[in-house]
Amino acid sequence: MSTVSNLLQFLNSSPTPFHAVQSIKRQLIGSGFLELRESQLWETEQGGKYYVTRGETSIVAWIQGESLPEHGAHIVGAHTDSPNLRLKPHPNITRSGYRQLGVEVYGGVLLGTWTDRDLSLAGRVFVESENGLKTYPLLCKRPLVRIPQLAIHLNREVNDKGLQLNKQKHLPPILTKSQNWETEDALKFWLAEELDLEASKIRSWDLSLYDTQPAQCWGPDLEFIASARLDNLFCCFTGLQALCHSNSPKPWTQVLVCYDHEEIGSQTTEGAHSSFLEFVIRRLAEQTGSPQAYERAVANSILVSADMAHAVHPNYAEQHDPNHFPQMNEGPVIKRNSQGRYATSARTEAWFEQICYQCNVPVQKFVMRTDLACGSTIGPITAARLGIETVDVGASMLAMHSIRETCGSLDADYLIKAFQAIYQEHLPILN
Ligand SMILES: [Zn+2]
Repeated sequence: MSTVSNLLQFLNSSPTPFHAVQSIKRQLIGSGFLELRESQLWETEQGGKYYVTRGETSIVAWIQGESLPEHGAHIVGAHTDSPNLRLKPHPNITRSGYRQLGVEVYGGVLLGTWTDRDLSLAGRVFVESENGLKTYPLLCKRPLVRIPQLAIHLNREVNDKGLQLNKQKHLPPILTKSQNWETEDALKFWLAEELDLEASKIRSWDLSLYDTQPAQCWGPDLEFIASARLDNLFCCFTGLQALCHSNSPKPWTQVLVCYDHEEIGSQTTEGAHSSFLEFVIRRLAEQTGSPQAYERAVANSILVSADMAHAVHPNYAEQHDPNHFPQMNEGPVIKRNSQGRYATSARTEAWFEQICYQCNVPVQKFVMRTDLACGSTIGPITAARLGIETVDVGASMLAMHSIRETCGSLDADYLIKAFQAIYQEHLPILN
């Protein structure tokens, strides 16, 4: 199968960060990676392939090099989460003869795009079992709920004034008119039936709405991809392909980290602000027994923080700086921001550009318009937390944070090639 059809499958099987980590794990296991747990003692070997998860929604995978303090790690980082709507703990709402579900907004959702879509539910349910709590994955494939817009006849000014949505009042999706759903525990009973378990054993859930329309290519030459969650499953996927196809062990350790919670600021147990990556590097460095192992490992490492970038939109080209027009299908984008919203320095920019040049991958550069606020990503957070030199890069896309984003089909192979070069080549930043 081609890269793009694998990517579409990855997107479709990963409606939530939990499912994304499951998808990543499946490929890692197929490529011979072994699971470690943070709660256990690690005895890892040079040339070994391992992964560890935290909270079931963040994952670090690596191919171990010779000596981490001496050779450091070549790290590609991405995030597993995307903006969406999440079910409240008591979601049942009855209004005007309809049963609806109460939802919270997760991250910077482009809210209007969630209306009039064939939505369903995915995530995980925590259930009491004989051996403590058990996680049950849920992925309901048929359309289950919907957020219909108001007819234009009842909202005549919508095209001029834009769609105004009150998050509490206008987002609860319609579920049903059935009287079967009129009890407080109706959702629990439905979940119990879907998952084949007892409703009384359900303790909590982490359930999101998602769009059931599968990812697909579009355009006369199928040059674009339309999907939910391209930000940032595109970079999780391309980083993962580069790591799984990097079969020759190197002196340095090859690492992929995919964090949850980037879209809400990363200040969580699993996020880029957490100890997750630090602890992995510390454990691998300190098991060598050499002095100042962790500090040397960090100083010899490099992080490529991979997250999506804004392609220029032909209908809104004035929103971009006129000298920086990233295009889809023209290779990775290096992101700079002098306020530190991206971690790229001139040194790491030069380093990444040189790598792309050596492996024949075109490269582009992005800065935000000077009069617009710049977004951020895991790059600056990880760089500040660990002190690893970092470059922020990504593939360019349109409609970031829409339920149906767009990116270029060719960029998947460009990013994989660049990340493979990061894993395979040694281009020291300092002479
Ligand atoms: Zn992102």
